Amino acid sequence: MKRLADRLVIAGVGLIGGSLALALRARGLVGEVVGYGRSAENLRVARRRGIIDRAERDPARAARGADVVVVAVPVQAIAPVIGALAPALPPGAIVTDAGSVKAPVVAAAERVLGEGAGRFCGSHPIAGTEHSGAAAALPDLLEGRRCILTPGPRTAAMTRRRVHAVWEAAGMRVEEMPARTHDKVFALVSHLPHVAAFALVNAVADADRQGPRRALAYAAGGFKDWTRIAASSPEMWRDICLANRDELLGAIDGFGAAVERLRVAIAQGDGDGILAELSRAHTTRRRLGTSTPSAPARLRARRSARRTRGR
Ligand code: NAP
Repeated sequence: MKRLADRLVIAGVGLIGGSLALALRARGLVGEVVGYGRSAENLRVARRRGIIDRAERDPARAARGADVVVVAVPVQAIAPVIGALAPALPPGAIVTDAGSVKAPVVAAAERVLGEGAGRFCGSHPIAGTEHSGAAAALPDLLEGRRCILTPGPRTAAMTRRRVHAVWEAAGMRVEEMPARTHDKVFALVSHLPHVAAFALVNAVADADRQGPRRALAYAAGGFKDWTRIAASSPEMWRDICLANRDELLGAIDGFGAAVERLRVAIAQGDGDGILAELSRAHTTRRRLGTSTPSAPARLRARRSARRTRGR
């Protein structure tokens, strides 16, 4: 495969940015990888792990000579970071992001790029774990997962092709969607479940504090499976809640209505009503099937296989 960039800049060398860099490096598709970031400590981890060749905290030094820039910082910081890098970018450089919300991010990125908006195409790699930072990056996190591109009317055809090639080279299945459609879809299937998981943990912890039973000490599979994602970065999820506010509020209202239907049926001792609600969900969920194992699950499985072989 042809080299994608002589100099790749990853702004925000965390779980997503770091995993992309590792995947592209492993395939020999990039020359120098420059990490631009906030804390020196995270950039040190990225250097130590061989994710980046060079760490920069000055945007002009980071942007100089870049071919491809991937901005993988929390959603509200994406446009400001692009704005900081833009003045020093060479004319041929393309820019994408990894943000979980698209319409406001794309609009803000295009605003800060002004005349240069053709070099930007929004992306959302649909992969992740509840862990953050360069220490959490995995070379196969993105492998086999979907990546949604949200090109707008101002995105140049060349930018779109090159951004497509970047995620595809990391093993992702790339598709395109209008940014607004993306935000509606992911409010339902990603943002709502995260908010619900955060709220569920708080509800149980609050009840636990009021009673003498220490319920959380008995939390097992069901509770832990559902709430794994509540261990995700609060900063990242604060930004997603704010950026996708309207879509998320609609999704929360829909969820509230579904919980209320069940609550009423339970309160009325309406067995048929309870069964109807549960059966509908049961059928829908069964149709979805199981997801492919997550990268951390695959890693655990590999480690366990190695331990078994070593015995
Ligand atoms: P992460 O592991 O927390 O990494 C984000 C990195 O950005 C951190 O290393 C952080 O630096 C850096 N950063 C934060 N603010 C910055 C700023 N103003 N300037 C420069 N660097 C800054 O987060 P992530 O999970 O990779 O998420 C990155 C983006 O991908 C987010 O927009 C998120 O919505 C999106 N995304 C996440 C997932 C997921 O499941 N995690 C999935 C798909 C997309 P420090 O370490 O120094 O704080």
